[in-house]
Amino acid sequence: MKKTLVASAILFSLVACSSQQAPSQNTESTAVSAAQTQAVNQAFNDFKHHFIEEYWVLSPDHAVYAGRYELDGILVLPDMQQREAEKRFAEKKLIKLGRFDIEQLNENNASDYHIIKNELESILWYNKSLKRHEWDPSIYNVANTIGLILNTPYKSLEERLLVVLRRMEKVPAYYQAAAISLNTPTIPHTELAIQQNKGAMALFKGKLPKLVNESSLSSREKNVLLESAEKSTLAINDYVTWLESKLVELKTNGNAKDFRIGEALYEEKFALDIFSDLTAEQLYNKAVAEKKRVHGEIIKITDKLWPKYFADTAMPADKLKATKQLIDHISVKNVKRDEFVSSIRAQIPELEAFVYENNLIEMDLEKPLVVRETPEYMRGYAGASISAPGPYDAKANTYYNVTPLDNFTDEQAESYLREYNHWLLQILNIHEAVPGHYTQLVHSNKSPSLIKSIFGNGAMVEGWAVYTERMMLEQGYGDFEPELWLMYYKWNLRVIVNAILDYSIQVKGMSEQQAMDLMVNEAFQEQAEAAGKWRRATLSQVQLTSYFTGYSEIYALREALKSRTGQNFNLTNFHNQFLSYGSAPVPIIKKMMFSDYVKNH
Ligand code: ZN
Repeated sequence: MKKTLVASAILFSLVACSSQQAPSQNTESTAVSAAQTQAVNQAFNDFKHHFIEEYWVLSPDHAVYAGRYELDGILVLPDMQQREAEKRFAEKKLIKLGRFDIEQLNENNASDYHIIKNELESILWYNKSLKRHEWDPSIYNVANTIGLILNTPYKSLEERLLVVLRRMEKVPAYYQAAAISLNTPTIPHTELAIQQNKGAMALFKGKLPKLVNESSLSSREKNVLLESAEKSTLAINDYVTWLESKLVELKTNGNAKDFRIGEALYEEKFALDIFSDLTAEQLYNKAVAEKKRVHGEIIKITDKLWPKYFADTAMPADKLKATKQLIDHISVKNVKRDEFVSSIRAQIPELEAFVYENNLIEMDLEKPLVVRETPEYMRGYAGASISAPGPYDAKANTYYNVTPLDNFTDEQAESYLREYNHWLLQILNIHEAVPGHYTQLVHSNKSPSLIKSIFGNGAMVEGWAVYTERMMLEQGYGDFEPELWLMYYKWNLRVIVNAILDYSIQVKGMSEQQAMDLMVNEAFQEQAEAAGKWRRATLSQVQLTSYFTGYSEIYALREALKSRTGQNFNLTNFHNQFLSYGSAPVPIIKKMMFSDYVKNH
């Protein structure tokens, strides 16, 4: 018996071998090769499944955000042991991934392969090179996930409170591990950590006890929860006090770590976070050139519109100053504060109709976007955002959250409405909803890839939304009204300047004053907006370049395919095909679209 088994095994391997050597000489060997390809793809699907499941074990917080709740009660301690576990996981999976022949994977799997590889390399690089755990105290905060658990009714309130109890038992150990992990922090990240952890205390002192008292738990359980919440508050308070004294020390000794990460780390982070064909430096140069082009365009519009609005006033010699004056003047055309949400709601069908009538992209009118007032617990950040269903709940609604201006003073509301004036509001809706983020999501859900919904490429997602703003206007949305184009260019300058700022601050040492000058004088931003952006640019690195990188790469890809196909270029087909790969990095999509083009021509 044993002998026969060995013999048949050898026979099988011989067949497999010969089919590899001459794959297309007869139909039989082609069938074997197709079967092999299928087997490789099946094996890759299994690999992906295990990769994701093990990833959730390593990062239960991320799992909760993705809608997987099995491990919701586990608070992972941010210590050396955890970092070692992450490192081992990434190394082990990279070896396994390297065993797959990417040429044999189908398109969906091939792009997932690149995304997983990028994710694993990022884990190692963040751990070994960037080492945020040593200098960014704001990454330590237990309240975000606990807040999400309390706000998401995936189980009864009582069950979720008991989940939170399990997490709270580890809160003191969590902050001890944080303090041990930190080495020399930067000043802005320390200030942020103090502010955010004070906010975390508010959750344990305010919202949590309130929910405990409203629940139907026994009085014994309630007492245990309230005691645990108090211990958590004390642990956070200790961390905040420790950071406050650290901050004084950093400021007096002048030995704080620089928040600028410098050229070498920046280039590496750009390559991993953005996944571009360009280096960070090349992207920066491209943004500088694009700013010049857009200034040329916006000045042409100013020349044209000036007599219409300022018939009796001479135009300032400085054309950018004239542009700023013109923008300020026409921004008074805006909606009433109590009609902000309803006017956005009214505009979505108009955008859908334009896309539909001009056949720009396939639209799924069966699954409408729901415009709603931003839920209370989500307020405080962006005024408008898209809430997409998580990868484990793809059938749920997609919401366009718009925050009403209820809590604004008259002055704040006026300034906000001037910013999101009649024209800019339309561009915002294109970006967030149709055919921007929402439309991209609908397409992305048609080729479901768990990998892409969990680790989707930010530059592709933001780049698409920014690309659609220009595409819609170029296709005649708004009838080429100069005012709409003027506002579009102002909005687009923000994207361009974000990329310039990020690189200039992190790599070239740009000062706060230089940054403010750039934003206010060359991108027409308000002081308050520019000050907020400066702060953001000291706290994050690379992310601010994602909008411009993705946008310019998508636009360049379209133009390249257009020049190759000439008369046969079809914009609708380009859009549908581009969106059919899910949220993969643009260079990966580009590769697949070009190889498809070669096959068909
Ligand atoms: Zn966006």
